[in-house]
Amino acid sequence: MSSRHARTLSDLGLDRDDLSGAAAGDWIPTRGPEIVSTDPTTGEPIGRVRAADEAAYEVVLGRAEARFEEWRLRPAPRRGELVRKLGARLRGAKEALGALISLEVGKIRSEGLGEVQEMIDICDFAVGLSRQLGGLTLPSERPGHRLMEQWHPLGPVGIVTAFNFPMAVWAWNAALAAVCGDVCLWKPSPRAPLSALAVQRICHEVMVEEDAAGLFGLLVDGVPTSTRIAADRRIPLVSFTGSVAAGRAVAATVAGRLGKAILELGGNNAAVVLDDADLDLAVRAITFGAAGTAGQRCTTTRRVLAQRGVSGRLAERLVAAYRTIRIGDPMDSATLMGPLVGADAVDAYRRAVAAAVAQGGEILCGGKAIDRPGFYVEPTIIRAPSPDRFPIAHEETFAPILYLFEVDSLDAAIAAHNAVPQGLSSAIFTESFRSAERFVSAAGSDCGIANVNTGTSGAEIGGAFGGEKDTGGGRESGSDSWKAYMRRQTCTLNFGGTLPLAQGVEFL
Ligand code: NAD
Repeated sequence: MSSRHARTLSDLGLDRDDLSGAAAGDWIPTRGPEIVSTDPTTGEPIGRVRAADEAAYEVVLGRAEARFEEWRLRPAPRRGELVRKLGARLRGAKEALGALISLEVGKIRSEGLGEVQEMIDICDFAVGLSRQLGGLTLPSERPGHRLMEQWHPLGPVGIVTAFNFPMAVWAWNAALAAVCGDVCLWKPSPRAPLSALAVQRICHEVMVEEDAAGLFGLLVDGVPTSTRIAADRRIPLVSFTGSVAAGRAVAATVAGRLGKAILELGGNNAAVVLDDADLDLAVRAITFGAAGTAGQRCTTTRRVLAQRGVSGRLAERLVAAYRTIRIGDPMDSATLMGPLVGADAVDAYRRAVAAAVAQGGEILCGGKAIDRPGFYVEPTIIRAPSPDRFPIAHEETFAPILYLFEVDSLDAAIAAHNAVPQGLSSAIFTESFRSAERFVSAAGSDCGIANVNTGTSGAEIGGAFGGEKDTGGGRESGSDSWKAYMRRQTCTLNFGGTLPLAQGVEFL
């Protein structure tokens, strides 16, 4: 273990070489392959984890099913009490957890801490929600009858997560699922196994105190365990976060057994900048949205559609802003952009830049990998020829590459905006009330998230999060997303002494 990692691993109880990637309350011995967690800043290993094998999977799922029998009947506000304790523990470990995110996936310090804050926030939200899981009461057409809807827990929820939010995406799902009366099986990204172990250790303490072993289970692995979860009829709901290609495979398998899925897949997000925009706001929001997290957010700004009168000035100001981005060690508080997650991500960046140039793009800044240890690239802006002659901009490259398009009008911007297969997040910068309203209207942005004068990236937990088209259609986090974690039951209660039939049907 290198000295760079020792303190954080020790603070989180991960400073040992026999880490098991399977847990359901207790840690479970497993014989899966060894997964090495790599520090993208240096390329050095941080730790090694033994992946879950099929036997461990059965143990974790078996304990989850056993816990579900009791947990689903525990009153929801008491379930909320456990989640309240979980949030408090996460708050206590915020510094170390945030540092681990920076070490394991390369997020800058404030974003690592922000991700832990997001876990704390969703726990708070879920505690309140635990007293609000209400259904409707509806008038019945039959005398002496009442119609009532109620919400029941589903059972074990499979939570498969991506590397770029190695803790928060689990929390969005698990905090809600837990108060809803479900039990959780987490299959994290094999790129971030230590982040998952650190969170699971905290869950373990809370489960012991609250007599809830089996409520939160962990299965560190790659594709095999995802596929097992997708195919397993004992898991009524699979919440999958990741690329469109992987999500498509998982969704097909879940659909094949008529299971439920929440799909949170790739984005290809654009900011529209009109001639009347406040450029100070637009430049800051686009720079954070495109280069923040080294372009590795599902909500990263990947395209700018700028109206002709402003596009030249906007390009100049963005290039100037990009020159001020300090690239370096994410653990250094002055750093604004860390590394990409791995060598394959650097290759994908190089391929996309080459394709963009081959398709007529002009590099305004960046465009190269950086020659230093770890997986660093330059944040890049490419002026694109026209929205319909630039196929590379229809793909999500998980790297800090921003394509700049010039458009004539708001209508042209909206058409180009909606022409890509993905539909996650979008933004417009304008001082015109009419243009803003048009963008968020039914004939405007086709995304799950549409913002005005703020960027595509960095959603709050209070709203429902997710997107349309190839992004998968799922919703997580706030608002009424909790309903996806429960089954709705409609009850007709007859308190009269006769048996009238619906629609006036006569029988017997
Ligand atoms: P990924 O698709 O490579 O992996 C995501 C998860 O799926 C991992 O746990 C991985 O082990 C598993 N997986 C990979 N291939 C699989 C397959 N064929 N079958 C079953 N499981 C498989 O994605 P990633 O590189 O970890 O994350 C980046 C992607 O995730 C981007 O596309 C990003 O936009 C997306 N993402 C979306 C959201 C959202 O909320 N919409 C949030 C975060 C990330």
